[in-house]
Amino acid sequence: MNKHTLPDLPYDYNALEPYIDEETMKLHHDKHHASYVNNLNGAVEKYPDLSSKSADDLIINLNDIPEDIRTAVRNNAGGHVNHTMFWQIMSPGKGGEPSGRLAEEINKTFGSFGDFQNRFNDAGLKRFGSGWVWLVMTKDSKLDIVSTPNQDNPVMDGQKPILGNDVWEHAYYLKYKNMRADYLKAWWNVVNWEEVEKRLNIKN
Ligand code: MN
Repeated sequence: MNKHTLPDLPYDYNALEPYIDEETMKLHHDKHHASYVNNLNGAVEKYPDLSSKSADDLIINLNDIPEDIRTAVRNNAGGHVNHTMFWQIMSPGKGGEPSGRLAEEINKTFGSFGDFQNRFNDAGLKRFGSGWVWLVMTKDSKLDIVSTPNQDNPVMDGQKPILGNDVWEHAYYLKYKNMRADYLKAWWNVVNWEEVEKRLNIKN
């Protein structure tokens, strides 16, 4: 049984050019994301009780996962959840700035949209090795910028992810080589703020 499935990209592989190149998108979606899904299915197959749980459910309650598969679930359900969000919050012809409540919350918390971007880029640059940088809603219902190692997701710390950027080398190395800072800056051109705003408004 293959319960967890790879979602289709909601646009063509080359749709995010020139900011994210076609070959990176192909490898990232068809190989990297696919392997998280396959490895997740492999990890949970001997525990039928887990078959009713979504990947999100699995990573929210990692302590409930049998110890022998906990690390595999953390990495692969995490990878599946993170990338599923990642494809959705990007879109061709987007970028710009958020509006409405999200814009207000960002200005209130970080001073301005530009200050928010600078802090987000900085957190992404400082993540040593592989991981993600996030805009989250904290347990106290405040916006914050955090970064996580590997495929960890903020829900593992009780935070709600609103927006996340993948800073693994596989996300940028073919085009940007070692220049992660350039990738972080360029990435804002493909952020789909309408989709991000929806996530702000989803109840926990
Ligand atoms: Mn990735």
